Amino acid sequence: MTLRLVMGAEKKPDFKKAQEAALALLDEFGYEVPPIDPVIISRELGIRVYFVEFEKEDDNISGFFSADENAIYVNKNEYAPRQTFTIAHELGHKRLHEEWLKSSDYKVLLRDQSAAPKDPIEQEANVFAAHLLVPKFILQKYKDIASIQELATLFMVSEPVIRARLKHEYGK
Ligand SMILES: [Zn+2]
Repeated sequence: MTLRLVMGAEKKPDFKKAQEAALALLDEFGYEVPPIDPVIISRELGIRVYFVEFEKEDDNISGFFSADENAIYVNKNEYAPRQTFTIAHELGHKRLHEEWLKSSDYKVLLRDQSAAPKDPIEQEANVFAAHLLVPKFILQKYKDIASIQELATLFMVSEPVIRARLKHEYGK
């Protein structure tokens, strides 16, 4: 147990792998214009998506992937852009971390943890989600003609996600 924790702490996130996996999926579906809907993608891949009300003590959960059911459960009380990001994040785990999803190490996505997680696996899932929902090749077409608010509406994500993507790709 101790050994695994040490190894886990030393593992570096592979952002390139996460970005490429997101791009490959977009390519598979032929997306060229926003918004990218991870619910449609999930369902096309045979993954069920359920919007559910969690028990009160679990209401800090944004969502999770059920490996047994091949299904994503999303907190229906969160606002839509957040739900979209959660689904894309869990889809990232499915594409990148299938073995880990089935293991006891898997953790649900909590509301307060999602912004800047330390766990490399969580970081990879966030990068996958950001690049899936706001791919550079599509962002490129709109970034100079739309405001951050308009971009958020166009891509159906939150404004912080747009800001993070602009900063990542264009340093602004
Ligand atoms: Zn996660």
